[in-house]
Amino acid sequence: MSITAQYEAVKRSLPEGVTLVAVSKTHPAEMIRELYDAGQRIFGENRPQELKEKYDLLPHDIRWHMIGHLQTNKVKYIAPFVEMIHSVDSDRLLAVIEKEAAKNDRMIDVLFEIHVADEETKSGWEPDELRAYLDSGAWRSYTHIRYRGVMTVATQTDDEAQIRREFTTVRDLLAELRDRYFDATFDTLSMGMTHDYPIAIECGATMVRIGSKIFGARDYGQTAR
Ligand SMILES: *Cc1c(COP(=O)(O)O)cnc(C)c1O
Repeated sequence: MSITAQYEAVKRSLPEGVTLVAVSKTHPAEMIRELYDAGQRIFGENRPQELKEKYDLLPHDIRWHMIGHLQTNKVKYIAPFVEMIHSVDSDRLLAVIEKEAAKNDRMIDVLFEIHVADEETKSGWEPDELRAYLDSGAWRSYTHIRYRGVMTVATQTDDEAQIRREFTTVRDLLAELRDRYFDATFDTLSMGMTHDYPIAIECGATMVRIGSKIFGARDYGQTAR
């Protein structure tokens, strides 16, 4: 199937109200252009320089989402145009996003990445760690940041019950944090990838991040991962 046909199939599988982030990392600008022509506007990338290069090559009404771990010294590459950063995992990162957004005189939407998976390597806040951070109030001084919700990556496992537990934990956390610290605009639940997005949707995801099911397998080539 062509990527457009794959894309249409994925779109049809999403209920109304679930936003698709087409994850285009490692794929060339021409493939993104093809989906753009088919109507897709939100694309997700995980490397700041790659994101910036694609931004320069493609129509500027694309809404770029940063979904991967972000180093503070790379925020400057994407701050002029990025719509949403899904992977906020520290106050240090928020402070730099604030500074760079202010420099560009714009607002940047962020999600707190929540760590619920088994893997030690996955980044993000433990729920208690995030509660303590939000209690500290430091985040309230960042006036160029809009706090929009939470994001997670579930454990890579065939155990559906475990994936469901993890997604449910994050869904409940979103509601709790919205009530305790934020308002109705803290409403984005970014969870679900190619292999687990139907479960994520059952658990309340409002945004899914889908790459391989649309674009096919990624070839990391000479890159380090
Ligand atoms: C690569 C990536 C995705 C998309 O993964 P697929 O399995 O290709 O759908 C989603 N979220 C994050 C954080 C990613 O890095």
